[in-house]
Amino acid sequence: MPRKKGPSEQEVLEIINNLQEEGILQSELWKRVSADSREGSRTILRLEKKGLIERRKELHDGRWTYRVLTRRKYAKIDSIMDIPCAFCDLEGRCGQSAVQNPSKCERLTKWLETMTAPAAKA
Ligand code: SF4
Repeated sequence: MPRKKGPSEQEVLEIINNLQEEGILQSELWKRVSADSREGSRTILRLEKKGLIERRKELHDGRWTYRVLTRRKYAKIDSIMDIPCAFCDLEGRCGQSAVQNPSKCERLTKWLETMTAPAAKA
């Protein structure tokens, strides 16, 4: 008898990532991928082990379950409102020479460092 495989990690991860911060209840996820809880749980646990998703305990209709959320952080428009390129007097010429381009720009590098600092804006 062939072994039933369950949903692929890629399929499940794509659904979870697309939901961003909203996440999805496990039971809803199983329905979406046509899996039973055993098959779905195996896939979810593998993704959790890889650090790609997280599960948060949640009371739903009087029963404890888990909400599954992506660990991918999405940039919000507010977080890039102050990018130096938006106010740069060199913007028109930037990227047209080996000297003046984003990969060598000190202002952009400093700004990116503030974005990736532990207390960075989300
Ligand atoms: S990369 Fe630097 S020089 Fe180029 S537009 Fe942005 S801030 Fe200006």
